[in-house]
Amino acid sequence: MKGLKKEKQKQNKTKYFSPGNVKEAVEILAEIGEEVEVLAGGTDLLVRYYERLYDIDYLLDLRLLEGLEGIKLYDDRIEIGARATHSQLEKSEYINKYFPIIGQAAANVGSPQIRNRGTIGGNIVNASPAGDLLPGMLAYEAKFKLVSAKEEIIVSAEDFFVEPGKTILKPNQLLTKVILPKPEENTYSSWIKIGMRKTVAITTISLALVLKLKRDNNTIKELRTCLGSVAPTPLLIRELNREIKGEKIDQLDFNRLGELVADIISPIDDVRATKEYRKEVARNIMIESLEKVAKLR
Ligand SMILES: Cc1cc2nc3c(=O)[nH]c(=O)nc-3n(C[C@H](O)[C@H](O)[C@H](O)COP(=O)(O)OP(=O)(O)OC[C@H]3O[C@@H](n4cnc5c(N)ncnc54)[C@H](O)[C@@H]3O)c2cc1C
Repeated sequence: MKGLKKEKQKQNKTKYFSPGNVKEAVEILAEIGEEVEVLAGGTDLLVRYYERLYDIDYLLDLRLLEGLEGIKLYDDRIEIGARATHSQLEKSEYINKYFPIIGQAAANVGSPQIRNRGTIGGNIVNASPAGDLLPGMLAYEAKFKLVSAKEEIIVSAEDFFVEPGKTILKPNQLLTKVILPKPEENTYSSWIKIGMRKTVAITTISLALVLKLKRDNNTIKELRTCLGSVAPTPLLIRELNREIKGEKIDQLDFNRLGELVADIISPIDDVRATKEYRKEVARNIMIESLEKVAKLR
């Protein structure tokens, strides 16, 4: 591995690696560091590259890397390999049974071509405020496994996102899997994405909501509400949970909670919508989400 940088300087073109396992991959990352670009499906990375927003000196392709594929069910959790595509998530029996809004969000991504190539790992590490899998990750309390040549660590999705395009992932780390704790009995969820069109639309605003009820299937144990595209990172609204914990879902004033969400968020104006529009829509989709989960009981 030593001397890779010198060799590259002489050749002056992109050097390509296609490791077969995680150990080899993280050794390459340890040796070359931040100049390596990790390539999964390429639907974000290569678009930026072909638009010549930057040059790539070293490319580490995950395509043949074993151990990052598949969706596995355990007693208490599901583990999703970072290379799982949106199409695989959309069609997965386990995802649709236990984490339906991840399947729905994946089914909303881009077009069939994008869903066949784009991966969960790429969506997460790309850290776009409009990334469609991100709100569901926070709502379902996902954890991410990050592996470097030195260590393997598990971090919470809530702590992962820093700003648009930036996460706590270090240049020497790979995201290898997503771990989702299996929901308790009486857990219900809803996903709403608003875009400018029905398909191939970047999200203008989205909302993932997970409601956990007590054994009576009415008293609220926990409400996890996460909005996309209203802040630099996915926004988990903890105040809502504090406000309604212990109340009965059939006695809740959904309008009041919709207003609360609109008051709490501070979105910006951008090419897709004004801040006033986003606040108004946030209110409406909060009400709609609560109506949806209340009906699922
Ligand atoms: C036409 C079009 C429509 C789209 N529509 C949507 C949409 O509706 N919703 C949406 O959310 N996104 C959309 N996208 C964006 C994109 O398809 C998704 O974000 C996709 O999930 C990215 O995955 P990828 O495997 O292609 O990532 P890549 O482009 O391969 O990688 C993205 C970034 O993540 C890093 N990376 C990837 N995997 C790992 C890993 N395992 N460990 C460490 N770093 C890693 C890469 O280095 C890169 O910086 C669209 C893109 C296009 C071109």
